[in-house]
Amino acid sequence: MIYLDNAATTQMAPEVLQAMLPFFSDVYGNASAVYGLGARARQAVFEARKQVGALIGAAPEEIYFTSGGTEADNWAIKAVAETFADRGKHIITSKIEHPAVLQTCEWLERRGYEITYLDVDKDGLVHVEDVESALRSDTILISIMFANNEIGTIEPIAEIGSLARRRHVLFHTDAVQAFGQVPIDVEDMQIDLLSASAHKVNGPKGVGCLYIRSGVKIHPFLHGGPQERSRRAGTENVAGIAGFGAAARRAARILAEKQKREMSLRDDLIRRLESEVPWCRLNGHRSRRLPGNVNFSFSFVEGEALLIRLDMAGICASSGSACTSGSLDPSHVLLAIGLSHELAHGSLRLTLSEANTKAELDIVVETVKKAVELLRQMSPLYEDFMKNQSLEENI
Ligand SMILES: *Cc1c(COP(=O)(O)O)cnc(C)c1O
Repeated sequence: MIYLDNAATTQMAPEVLQAMLPFFSDVYGNASAVYGLGARARQAVFEARKQVGALIGAAPEEIYFTSGGTEADNWAIKAVAETFADRGKHIITSKIEHPAVLQTCEWLERRGYEITYLDVDKDGLVHVEDVESALRSDTILISIMFANNEIGTIEPIAEIGSLARRRHVLFHTDAVQAFGQVPIDVEDMQIDLLSASAHKVNGPKGVGCLYIRSGVKIHPFLHGGPQERSRRAGTENVAGIAGFGAAARRAARILAEKQKREMSLRDDLIRRLESEVPWCRLNGHRSRRLPGNVNFSFSFVEGEALLIRLDMAGICASSGSACTSGSLDPSHVLLAIGLSHELAHGSLRLTLSEANTKAELDIVVETVKKAVELLRQMSPLYEDFMKNQSLEENI
């Protein structure tokens, strides 16, 4: 099997599993308990808070553990909306956010908030000037993702952060795809709220965090206990949190090496697909791009059909079309960067990890090339296109 769907989830690292195991067996104490068994759980949660914070330049007490990236996004946006409703009801976001952000904004819209969904350019970049012109006196939040999960484009976060700070508007970023993949510093980048998730960075599923800058007073997400400094109640998921901490520590250790390796594999894969498969288009920015992200559209090919062909060859990949959303609508991200419905349906996302090899990518290139050829042979549109091509050549 060749796993190229690391933007959907990652394999847990062995050291992460090791870090979690004691909390499923011997160390079962409640982290709030006074006796030794509870103290050991509490200590693990504290260590994890330090490790997760360290990866983004945050203090441990600015990290609030959640059930994942989705909850962190919901919390950040809903809590800012609720806390500052008397100051204003306008939020700025982009058209290419993850559904956890977009659908939260849509929910608020139905409750009287006004949301500006910014356009992006053909590479998927949000323009800082557009953020600036969307600002109003009643704007309470800017929420722009750090890096896009489909096309890998990395947004100008530091510039947006600086604008937000200058204009006294809170800035949230969904950094689920960037956390542990590219360097992040919440101080330098002037980020007030940041969402991250463990399972996208070789940690366990079901745990993530919201970074809340100290001094940013937003309402709690869950009521009912003193956990997470009374802002996210509920007995801690100690094993999951310990796993998240171990994943963050590992990510910090390997980040530079991982980044270098993935970028080289990525650029090689992009170059080869571009040279070996005709009528394809790279989606997303060529250089301002997540180290492991490759996303192509192939004309006259259905993304779903391509995925099935790849699956038959043991390759796990994803497409920006139907399967992710469970509907037949093409990806909102691909439409936002200006692709036609046809091209948006013909997309393929290959997301690498540091564990992928050149030999695997050789197989992937060959398989994609063959599958695209085969699917085009079955496409009436492709047949017409080729007829016209040869007519033109004869003139
Ligand atoms: C995966 C992902 C999420 C959701 O995180 P979960 O931990 O799976 O809830 C949110 N935003 C982005 C950009 C993601 O890639």
